[in-house]
Amino acid sequence: MAREYKNYIAGEWCDSVTGERFENRNPANWDEVIGTFPNSNAEDVDRAVQAAKEAYDDWRLTPAPMRGEIIRKVGDLLTQYKEDIARTMTREMGKVLAETRGDVQEGIDTAYYAATEGRRLFGHTVPSELPNKFNLSMRIPIGVAGIITPWNFPMAIPTWKIFPALVSGNTVVFKPASDTPATATRLVEILLEAGVPPKVINIVHGGGTRVGVPIVEHRDIRLVSFTGSSAVGKLISEKASKTLKRVSLELGGKNAQIVMDDADLHLALEGVLWGAFGTTGQRCTATSRLILHEKIYDQFLDMLVPAAENLRLGDGLDENNQVGPLINEGQLEKVDEYVQIGKNEGATLVTGGERYSEGDCAKGFFYKPTIFVDVKRDMRIAREEIFGPVLSVFKVSSFDEAIDLINDSTYGLSSSIYTRDVNMAFKAMRDIEAGITYINGPTIGAEAHMPFGGVKETGNGHREGGWEVFEFYTETKVVYVDYSGRLQRAQIDNR
Ligand code: NAP
Repeated sequence: MAREYKNYIAGEWCDSVTGERFENRNPANWDEVIGTFPNSNAEDVDRAVQAAKEAYDDWRLTPAPMRGEIIRKVGDLLTQYKEDIARTMTREMGKVLAETRGDVQEGIDTAYYAATEGRRLFGHTVPSELPNKFNLSMRIPIGVAGIITPWNFPMAIPTWKIFPALVSGNTVVFKPASDTPATATRLVEILLEAGVPPKVINIVHGGGTRVGVPIVEHRDIRLVSFTGSSAVGKLISEKASKTLKRVSLELGGKNAQIVMDDADLHLALEGVLWGAFGTTGQRCTATSRLILHEKIYDQFLDMLVPAAENLRLGDGLDENNQVGPLINEGQLEKVDEYVQIGKNEGATLVTGGERYSEGDCAKGFFYKPTIFVDVKRDMRIAREEIFGPVLSVFKVSSFDEAIDLINDSTYGLSSSIYTRDVNMAFKAMRDIEAGITYINGPTIGAEAHMPFGGVKETGNGHREGGWEVFEFYTETKVVYVDYSGRLQRAQIDNR
């Protein structure tokens, strides 16, 4: 019998006021039900927000280094339970075990990094323009944070948001993706086990419209951190503007890898296989465009196509498999639709382009690694995020053309160039319009202490990870201390 999971609201594990539940199934074997979850609504969200609001004063007054200590303990517990969490994650969203272990590890790294920020959270002291006066700025928390996350990094992305939110002194209402509620529940259990006080963290399960929208619209939620599609990000931005909330949006991508004629082609091949087909192409940083210099175009394709065909598809729990399923049937249909669009637009399909349902894969949403050539930059497969194992290949005759093409996108998350020419590498660092540029590495992969995010329609300028994320979760307060014992008027009495 599948486990009946609960919300955690106001310090208690509870059902939704609606009494309704939804199922979470294994995308590698749709017959397997992982669990059922409360199908919550705005009333559940309101209860969670009121609880988080009540808890705020005590939490903000808990010294930041002590808040950091609790998050350090979370890191220890994530380390202890890593294997178990990785297996649950593979069952609920399909990534192969090596990747789900990496996903948990990112949470661990984020915990240890965030814990140390509890002892920093620097402000500034600067000289005053007036005598006997002292100026400082300090970081203060903001209030209740609404956290809305996608399913493709069910542990890492919630930790990127929740750990800095808590270390900064905010309380949290968390809505995870409906496709990965079990991993999210595990994270909340661990936060509580580590000593996060009841009501400081709340989790409300349910869909984007039923739970996500009420979070974004709630007057008592002062900031929303969202990772997901650009379409939903724009809706959130509009709705949040009604209450002038602070909003961080980490959205879609159409990332490209450039391979120049002087590149180490074997290295570039490993990079594009991992970038395009790792996580079945379901990463915001996935390589969905490959830009090849004409001098190595034929040779590189001769290496790439058989290598893509040799990738082993199957259940991620079997460590021999390299590519898991797509997240659900809707995503499988979307990927297949884009393949038909690509063909109709005149691109040439050189491999893949169909569902894979042999043997054990019959009950899952597997799709063959797919490569299109003869892709033109105005085609939809060249411009729109597909979020699946589909790679569009372009041929260019110069570095300048490659940079022009990589920048011809409404998105700007990740990018990559393979070259041995140091001058070209530095020009690429400067000229590619993206939040992340890899030199001789694939477009995917992030480190917890480095800021993560993109430009253009990939976001609204905030960053996750690194020090920068603490700027999102804190307000800057300026304090002037006048110890002159008399009225001193700035800009007047010192002139
Ligand atoms: P999504 O459909 O936008 O959903 C993301 C989250 O928002 C889910 O929790 C979803 O709930 C919720 N949601 C849906 N509609 C909502 C609404 N109207 N108001 C408030 N919340 C709403 O994205 P996804 O399919 O889960 O994830 C894939 C997308 O995320 C891709 O575009 C990918 O590029 C992007 N992504 C970006 C980054 C980054 O850092 N830039 C990282 C990872 C993924 P339900 O699950 O209940 O629908």
